[in-house]
Amino acid sequence: MSITVFGSVNLDLTVSVEQMPEPGVTSHATGFLKGLGGKGANQAVAATRLAKGPVRFVAAIGADAFGESLRASLSGLGVDTDNLVTMPDKDSGMALIHVDATSQNTITVVGGANMAWSPEGPDASCFEGCKVALFQLETPQQATIAAMRKAKAAGAKVILDPAPIAATGMDALLAEADIITPNETEAAGLAGSKPTNFDEALDVARSLCGRGPEIVIVKLGAKGLAYATKSGKSGKVEPFKVRAIDTVAAGDSFNGGLAAALAEGMELEAALRFASAAGALATTKKGASEAVPSRAEVDALISGQ
Ligand code: ADP
Repeated sequence: MSITVFGSVNLDLTVSVEQMPEPGVTSHATGFLKGLGGKGANQAVAATRLAKGPVRFVAAIGADAFGESLRASLSGLGVDTDNLVTMPDKDSGMALIHVDATSQNTITVVGGANMAWSPEGPDASCFEGCKVALFQLETPQQATIAAMRKAKAAGAKVILDPAPIAATGMDALLAEADIITPNETEAAGLAGSKPTNFDEALDVARSLCGRGPEIVIVKLGAKGLAYATKSGKSGKVEPFKVRAIDTVAAGDSFNGGLAAALAEGMELEAALRFASAAGALATTKKGASEAVPSRAEVDALISGQ
């Protein structure tokens, strides 16, 4: 039943400003927030909250005070931190975010320790007894491929969230994945054209099945999702109706939910509904890991309460 998430963990430093600073200008912030971020960490929080079995989070922090603060934040959210590796001489990953009065943002990511994995990736023991393993692309490609192979060798189903999409090397990653979960933008990066409706998303999903994965799920935000399998099945999952206020953690909650559902042995359609409910609920709250719903909230939305 266990799940392993391999990925990034960042300290998100969010500065609110009236106007984006122009080059050469010093301005005062109107607000400041420190938070836990990184797609790996968000998905580990989601899987931990939504799964019935144990979840391991395999990630790298720097040998600095931020690293210890990230470890404490993860443990405070119930995430198992036994597999956090400290990279000597590296800074912890960080995201420097400016948000202006019109809610436009600019984000600069400092990869730091997240990008310091050697090409061998994490130890194979991280995947022992693992039923589902979840990956994203905020870690070096070679280390991620090595980790995906170790997960598969341990008998795990390998899910890749191909985000952020890379300009090169995507085929080698797709070849190792059993399931991929691109959103519209990532689907465009992989397939060459952006799907704007279900039918186009189905075409993209079918074509990407030819590049390795058994199952391709194209997430369409408020329009739901389309999926296709190598064995010829395909379909749509309509979105749950919710009052969305902030879409930040939707994809990460979806992926954590999908891993949780598949680890329990749910059939694909049921797992997609479970993951969609998690994604929908995440849009009803502000923030990243703070917005990930609980298992009880997801179960209640599915059963129509
Ligand atoms: P990403 O964050 O990777 O771009 P999406 O925004 O496509 O991911 O969201 C993932 C899933 O969450 C969607 O496929 C959908 O099921 C659900 N979801 C996202 N936004 C909404 C919304 N506004 N209403 C209902 N469900 C949503």
